[in-house]
Amino acid sequence: LDFASLALPQQQLTNLSSLGYEQMTPIQAESLPLMLAGRDVIAQGKTGSGKTAAFGLGLLSRLEVKRFRIQALVLCPTRELADQVAVEIRRLARATHNVKVLTLCGGMPFGPQVGSLEHGAHIIVGTPGRIEEHLSKGLLKLQDLNTLVLDEADRMLEMGFQSALDFIIDETPADRQTLLFSATYPPQIESIAKRIMVTPALVQA
Ligand code: AMP
Repeated sequence: LDFASLALPQQQLTNLSSLGYEQMTPIQAESLPLMLAGRDVIAQGKTGSGKTAAFGLGLLSRLEVKRFRIQALVLCPTRELADQVAVEIRRLARATHNVKVLTLCGGMPFGPQVGSLEHGAHIIVGTPGRIEEHLSKGLLKLQDLNTLVLDEADRMLEMGFQSALDFIIDETPADRQTLLFSATYPPQIESIAKRIMVTPALVQA
C-alpha cells in the first residue's frame, strides 16, 4: 500500500509525503496501477475514500506541462465538489511546476470564465451544463484531451445531466482514457460505461 510501489516520479512521492499521504487508500491501491497502465477504470468509491487523489494522480501522470493545451477534464455534479476536486488536484500538481487548473461551474458569471479560457489551462474541472455551454459556443476545445473523468457519475445522472454528458463526450477524442467514479452502479451507469469506455476495469474498494 506504499505509494513508492507505483511508477510515480520521485518529486510526486516527496509531494505525497509532504501532504501526509503515507499509504494508499484501498481505492488508490486498486485503481492507480490500472490507471497508470492506461486502462479505462470504473471505481465505486464514496467521498472520503481518497478517490480524488486516485484520479488526480492518474490524470497528472499523463500530463505534458510543456503542451499548454487542455489535456484533462473532470466533470462533477456540483460546484462545491468541483471546487474541492480542483483544490486537491492543485495540491498534487505541486510536484510539477506551472500546471494550470481551471474550474468552470454553473452559478458563476460566464464572462470571467471566457477570459480564463483565453489564457489557457491544462486541466478543467467543472459541472456538465456549463462545460456544454462553453463547448457549444466554441469557447472550449477538447481535441487534445487525453483523460476524461466522471466524478460521482450516479449523481450527475440523477441531476439530469445525461444529455450534457453525451454532448461533452462527443467533443472528446475517441482515444482518450476514461475514468468513472460512482458511489452506486445502477443500470444507467452500466449503460453509459458500455458506450463510452473501452474494456473498463472494475474496482470496488
Ligand atoms: P476524497 O475521498 O477524495 O474526498 O478524499 C478524502 C480525504 O482524504 C481528502 O482530504 C484527501 O486529502 C485525503 N487523502 C486522500 N488520499 C490520502 C492518502 N493516501 N492518505 C491520507 N489522506 C488521503
